[in-house]
Amino acid sequence: MQKQNPKTFYVKTYGCQMNELDSEIMIGQLEGRGLTRSHEEDAADLLIFNTCSIRDLAERKAMGKIGLLGLQRQKRSIIGVTGCMANAKKDSLFQKLPHIDFILGTNNIHDLNHVLDEVLSSGKQTIRTDDQFTHELDYLSAKRDDKVKAYVSIIRGCDKYCTYCVVPYTRGPEVSRHPDSIVEECQHLVSQGYREVTLLGQNVNSYGKDQPEWGTLFHDILYKLDKIPGLERIRFMTSHPVDITKELMEAIRDLKSVCEFVHFPLQAGSDRILKKMHRIYTVEQYLEKVAMLRSIVPNVSLGTDIIVGFPTETEEEFQQTYDLLKQIEYSVAFLFSYSPRKGTPAMRWNDDIPEEVKQDRLQRLLQLQEQITAKQRQEMLGQEIEVLVEKRNFKDESLLKARTRCWKNVLFNGDESLIGTLQKVKLHSYSHQTFLGELIHGHGL
Ligand code: SF4
Repeated sequence: MQKQNPKTFYVKTYGCQMNELDSEIMIGQLEGRGLTRSHEEDAADLLIFNTCSIRDLAERKAMGKIGLLGLQRQKRSIIGVTGCMANAKKDSLFQKLPHIDFILGTNNIHDLNHVLDEVLSSGKQTIRTDDQFTHELDYLSAKRDDKVKAYVSIIRGCDKYCTYCVVPYTRGPEVSRHPDSIVEECQHLVSQGYREVTLLGQNVNSYGKDQPEWGTLFHDILYKLDKIPGLERIRFMTSHPVDITKELMEAIRDLKSVCEFVHFPLQAGSDRILKKMHRIYTVEQYLEKVAMLRSIVPNVSLGTDIIVGFPTETEEEFQQTYDLLKQIEYSVAFLFSYSPRKGTPAMRWNDDIPEEVKQDRLQRLLQLQEQITAKQRQEMLGQEIEVLVEKRNFKDESLLKARTRCWKNVLFNGDESLIGTLQKVKLHSYSHQTFLGELIHGHGL
């Protein structure tokens, strides 16, 4: 069926920060084409669903949502599916969702306008799902909602092949972005008023290894970016423990703009399960790195990811994970129960841990982590701490929302003119995960 040239578009993003950034880039491309963004799905002529395949639930949510559109919509908008599900399912998506018009993989974001033209001229379903990222994107025209902090992609894809993970198959092998392009984008962001960047990649610590002729590894990028005047804070995610180097730890210690927060995914606390996950480190090696990081950067905060109920995980092995969580005391932990993903090596194994056992293990870890973070929050009360002011608080507009260097949310009373500045705040209480504080006047940093 011939389609009408769209005037408005709506983008729904599922999943990780990389997907959020890809959506921002697509929004920039569509606005550059003259389309107007709508925040109402029903008001848009073009609907894009930027999907995630990391967990079964994320996939089912997106499939359910897009499937419903086929049943409900009277008006025939153009519908596109992008992101990891596009690469994981490829053209089989057209059988499951016959009403969609195009499929655009994670490595084909640059093709969005071409694909749209093709759909409009041919009226046929169109698909692009390359296995590898090969085209530089127009990062400078990305349209971000946030005005103070921005995501910046530095490496795409992953070469680690953890046995439970679809990313190496949906995003392809590691491809680093040229350092000059990263520096240029960060300079541009600062000129637009941004004060914080989060460097993104499935494994940022691998940066530059695929391009040895550049002579630039991940810590070198941090040194380059730290020189940009006005760039107050640099964060990065995510990391693979094997690639966290002493040079990186020293950069975190020595560079003022680099925040003392490292996402350091453990995944499991037993050597047998780590081996089965193909994580390529042992518990002992992991703990050595944590100890080295804590000795070089004593005030560092750590984050982690953990999966419980991986195939064949025994109660004793789960207990080892529990004990490590207790021992390491992360400030943030993303805890999940295992779900098999199509196309991964782990799919070959029987998903033999009953759901109620997985949920029981997950709840025990969640409770433990809550005790750890409650203790850490209590210890932080009374501290005078540097925050970057991000925006007005959504629920109570008299408050400003800010973040500490270690990634904690802080709310305090203050004037809108403080947005985008570093301030000192005294923490006096907390509610759920958020601190409440008081501005220390005259201490703008
Ligand atoms: S390091 Fe492992 S878990 Fe992380 S993206 Fe790569 S394969 Fe997936």
